[in-house]
Amino acid sequence: MTVSPSSAKAADKLLTVDEALERILAGVRPLPAREVALLEALGRTLAAEVVADRDIPPFRNSAMDGYAVRGEDVATAPARLRVVGAVAAGGMPERAVGRGEAMRIMTGAPMPDGADTVVRVEDTDNADDVVTVTAATPRGLSVRQAGEDLARGTTILRAGDVLRPAEIGLLASLGVSRPRVVARPRVAVLSTGDEIVEITETPGPGKIRDANRYSVGSAVLAAACEPWLRPLVRDTPDALRSALRDAMSADAIVTSGGVSVGDHDWVKPIVSELGTLDVWAIAIRPGRPLAFAQLRGGDRVVPLFGLPGNPVSALLTFELFVRPALLAMSGRRKLHRPRARAKLLDELDKPGFLRFFARAIYDAVAGTVRLTGPQGSGILRSMSLANCLIDAPPGPSTIAAGESVDVILTDLPEDH
Ligand code: AMP
Ligand code: MG
Repeated sequence: MTVSPSSAKAADKLLTVDEALERILAGVRPLPAREVALLEALGRTLAAEVVADRDIPPFRNSAMDGYAVRGEDVATAPARLRVVGAVAAGGMPERAVGRGEAMRIMTGAPMPDGADTVVRVEDTDNADDVVTVTAATPRGLSVRQAGEDLARGTTILRAGDVLRPAEIGLLASLGVSRPRVVARPRVAVLSTGDEIVEITETPGPGKIRDANRYSVGSAVLAAACEPWLRPLVRDTPDALRSALRDAMSADAIVTSGGVSVGDHDWVKPIVSELGTLDVWAIAIRPGRPLAFAQLRGGDRVVPLFGLPGNPVSALLTFELFVRPALLAMSGRRKLHRPRARAKLLDELDKPGFLRFFARAIYDAVAGTVRLTGPQGSGILRSMSLANCLIDAPPGPSTIAAGESVDVILTDLPEDH
């Protein structure tokens, strides 16, 4: 089959961002489930629901160091009670607590029968034989009921829940040492371009260092997926063809560069040859040329994202299209970042007919957003300074300062 960049151009068709995303998400599915060691499950998505098979805590116990008593004996203070023993965490009470009695008890120790209240040691004289309670204590205070954290039989976590340290703790309490999680997508990351050299090299005339394999690779990592950085790809059909074939064992492939209609842009024709090209171009700036395809090799079908080469465009299209797809492949339910409305502090110039994403700094307290400076798609610094993207719809080519705009919160506030 004869292919050329110009034949690819003929089929160019602009899709909206939402149409493209819908088609991309329809073209990916969650990876199979597997069991992993509990710590490795951090940031992964649970593949099956988890039901508590026991009460947590399993027995009534004290929330404080103090004295286990009967509530009616300490309703008023001072009260003097006979100390009938002691129980520590990990031990068992040797007897019950009767009227007028108290048992020394430590945090986490099982409550003795008969006792329903714990008086904090600070509210007593801390005596061993006869203790004086100096503060009236309501019945039930400082006692943790069995099952008050997790009640036996209740569904604690659902398929699609992301495991954070708190969920890992819940699983640990239930003895789930190897939870079933959705496999972590392994993502081949390729940079194309005759001008691109390794970051360890000093670029010769006309050459630049490869930013994209590292920015995109780390964006893959930040999406809790596994980046697989592949060798640099030259701008020839053969080099690209064999690089893509070599990447077919990945769960997804992300390329950057070569996706436009220049004389040396081979991604679209070669991808059409190796599979089905689903998306040609999107009505967006930055990042208009973008390819999404299903590559076929043997019995494998691997989604491919062909990102534009400009470093800002590559990261931005990753954020808008690849990240949600990787999260969907990871089994997540929530695929999108939080958004906010904010008052624009600068005038924003944009191409009228395209949806424009501007790098900006959002101030949650003031409810304002300002641009990070020049917005050219080669100016990666504009992205480095930003903590959000302004999502400006197609329409007027200028948005005036003072107007309210939609903001995508791409970073945690503490990162800036
Ligand atoms: P392309 O999409 O291949 O036409 O590239 C568009 C622009 O992005 C050109 O100026 C390239 O030099 C630049 N570019 C492409 N790939 C990379 C990369 N991996 N790192 C840095 N810049 C790149
Ligand atoms: Mg190129």
